[in-house]
Amino acid sequence: MSWFRKNKPPQEDTPVAAGEVHGTTEDGPVPGDAPAPEATPLGGQYDPADSTSSASATDHTSAAKRTEPGEDTGGIFKRLRRGLAKTRKLLTTDLDHLFAENKSVDNDMLADLEEILITADIGVQTALGLIQRVSRNASRIGDAAALKMVLRKEILDRLAGKPQEREDGGSRPHVIMVVGVNGVGKTTTIGKLAARFLGEKKKVLIAAADTFRAAAVEQLAVWAERSGADFVRHKDGADPAAVAYDGVEAACARNADVVLVDTAGRLHTKINLMEELKKIKRSMAKIMPDAPHEVLLVLDATTGQNALSQAKLFNEALGVTGIALTKLDGTAKGGIVISIHDRLNIPLQYVGVGETIEDLQVFDPHRFVDALFV
Ligand code: GDP
Ligand code: MG
Repeated sequence: MSWFRKNKPPQEDTPVAAGEVHGTTEDGPVPGDAPAPEATPLGGQYDPADSTSSASATDHTSAAKRTEPGEDTGGIFKRLRRGLAKTRKLLTTDLDHLFAENKSVDNDMLADLEEILITADIGVQTALGLIQRVSRNASRIGDAAALKMVLRKEILDRLAGKPQEREDGGSRPHVIMVVGVNGVGKTTTIGKLAARFLGEKKKVLIAAADTFRAAAVEQLAVWAERSGADFVRHKDGADPAAVAYDGVEAACARNADVVLVDTAGRLHTKINLMEELKKIKRSMAKIMPDAPHEVLLVLDATTGQNALSQAKLFNEALGVTGIALTKLDGTAKGGIVISIHDRLNIPLQYVGVGETIEDLQVFDPHRFVDALFV
């Protein structure tokens, strides 16, 4: 990777005490109590009437080439672009304004640029790396378009050269334990993933191991029913580890391909969340020694840099194998994607740009950068 990696300044994020993780809704109303949003059918639809975007699928052939099987790239790219609108404004319109005020790259402009990048939650450390790159190329940057090109290339280089997803070892069922603090979008993400896997003709089972809120189980039941996934639940307040155990056992018996295990993000008891999650993890390994095959951490993009602290805690406790970053559509902090790539050695697998099924996308660095700058 670039020189930047070898010259990392000290850590920048605020440490969070173990067992004390913060979500957006830690103490406030729990959005998850609301009924799950109305889902639209699988497969992004290209919407020619979409007035929020002037780009057409053919304008972005580089994005259009990187498709997932069976997906409508035009729709996916448009959804991503629309979801990233707030962040894109910072990196396009606001950058244009920089050149309206300063005609060349000087210290004042670099300071303003740094502010924009930090506002987009790219993170101090990553922003400084980008600024240094711009500064080195200053003589070649005569206008906003050239500046965007340098930033775009630098960001893409970072995103594209990062950790690979763990190989699927071929175990069936493939068990995915979904973790994260309250309100980040775990249950919604499970619903969307279930629909995605079912669309790939996989047999899916969902285990409701967030037994601490009755509403959470009901919310998941709606998603399971809607997507047609099998569903394993226990009584309210049951031992979550027992639900996870039963889920994996049932999946083995029923020849399921994928098990999605929902978990709590906050406990009502004194039990430490991480200890409870470790127990759930161990319970599944009693049936399948290599389960869970994935520990998917859900992070909420609107929490910005705090998401990095959450990732470190969950990773230390559970060994996170992948990240799903939700709510990119609600924030100008889309730069958190770049922070996650730069600061964590965990692959970003999915991004959420809205509440419907097709708003959960497999993360594609090229598509992401295209959507940010074009
Ligand atoms: P959990 O507590 O982690 O299970 O979170 P939920 O799945 O209950 O989600 C909390 C809220 O976030 C719900 O209202 C979801 O509809 C919403 N949500 C989840 N993902 C996204 C996303 O990508 N974009 C937006 N705008 N909302 C989301
Ligand atoms: Mg939930």
